[in-house]
Amino acid sequence: MSDPSRSEPVPETRAGRFDTLCVHAGQSPEPVTGAITTPIFQTSTYVQDGIGRHRGYEYARLQNPTREASEANIAALEGGRHGIAFSSGLAAIECLAKAVAAGGHIVSEENTYGGTTRMFTRILSRLGIEVTLADTRDPGAVEAAIRPETRLIHLETPSNPLMRIADIRAISEIARRRGILLCVDSTFASPGNQRPLSLGADVVMHSTTKYLSGHSDLLGGILVVNDDALADELHFVRKSTGPLPGPMDSWLTLRGTRTLHLRMECHNRNGVRIAEFLESHPAARAVHYPGLASHPGHELARRQMTGFAGMLSAEFSQADAKRLVERTRLFRLAESLGGVESMISIPSVMTHASVPEEARLRMGITNGLVRFSVGIEDGRDLVEDLEQALRNNE
Ligand SMILES: *Cc1c(COP(=O)(O)O)cnc(C)c1O
Repeated sequence: MSDPSRSEPVPETRAGRFDTLCVHAGQSPEPVTGAITTPIFQTSTYVQDGIGRHRGYEYARLQNPTREASEANIAALEGGRHGIAFSSGLAAIECLAKAVAAGGHIVSEENTYGGTTRMFTRILSRLGIEVTLADTRDPGAVEAAIRPETRLIHLETPSNPLMRIADIRAISEIARRRGILLCVDSTFASPGNQRPLSLGADVVMHSTTKYLSGHSDLLGGILVVNDDALADELHFVRKSTGPLPGPMDSWLTLRGTRTLHLRMECHNRNGVRIAEFLESHPAARAVHYPGLASHPGHELARRQMTGFAGMLSAEFSQADAKRLVERTRLFRLAESLGGVESMISIPSVMTHASVPEEARLRMGITNGLVRFSVGIEDGRDLVEDLEQALRNNE
């Protein structure tokens, strides 16, 4: 096991270092009262001073100060200029596809979040967008899948649930050479551990439902970009189609990101601990965690990540897997991830049930694969919980 603290520190910006940006970026005291937290502007519209005279706020599908504060906060955490928030992670991906790939072609990692692959293969096809799924661990496979009409490469690294690692920098060079946009779904890493824009990506995407909001209490998504024209186009598609987060969810996201740095340190620590525990347990046949030296993407992960988060999966016999997820007490049997509380699931029948069985098994998403979202509880309690659940299995 390597020491994650040996990785490169997150770069500093003039507005502050990462921890400071979590707490302050995008927020300043409210001008009327001085309220230290950004208020929840729960309004659909804004009264105008006269015809054609308003204060920059017209209608909530266009502008909302609470949403804008959360967008500016997350953009700063990713080292990007523009954050554009959505009602869910999938809505963010759909907006990007509509903005840049209409009538064209997308190359996507084959082992993404199940809903992403479902949208790519069953919904975008209705809009005339074709998708090729590739094993993006091999940059050559990405290059081979590119066509003249390819507009977008979509990576998910680490991937769900196999924790595959794609080389963001190498693939960004291919994308730049071929004039194609590169988007990285960085949900499993969070900006605390990975900053795709600094590695050459054009767009970083998050399901803010997960680590960014961090408390399992909302759905949301965001795209962060540097290019002004691309940001304008994404804003145009979003305001013309309407997949926006409400003010309350924007505020909860902002509340979550203010402690992102603290939560991720704990997720990183507990993730390593659970991965090492499982690797030494006889019931686990394989453990997929990029922080383990045994992971085939470990060296690459150490180059492009500063920590490895709390997401991992492990292979058990089908009977052991079923008993395990039904016997843990702290690890709750649930879809979703990235919350303060630990969760456990069986992707083949839960998050990835919509992926055709043949493709699932070829990639290694067997019926015995168990996914863990390791929370921020005391790591000793989490190990004891898994120990007792696995002991019952014997
Ligand atoms: C959850 C998730 C999504 C989809 O996000 P929603 O907020 O559920 O729409 C996309 N990518 C990854 C990696 C996810 O974990």
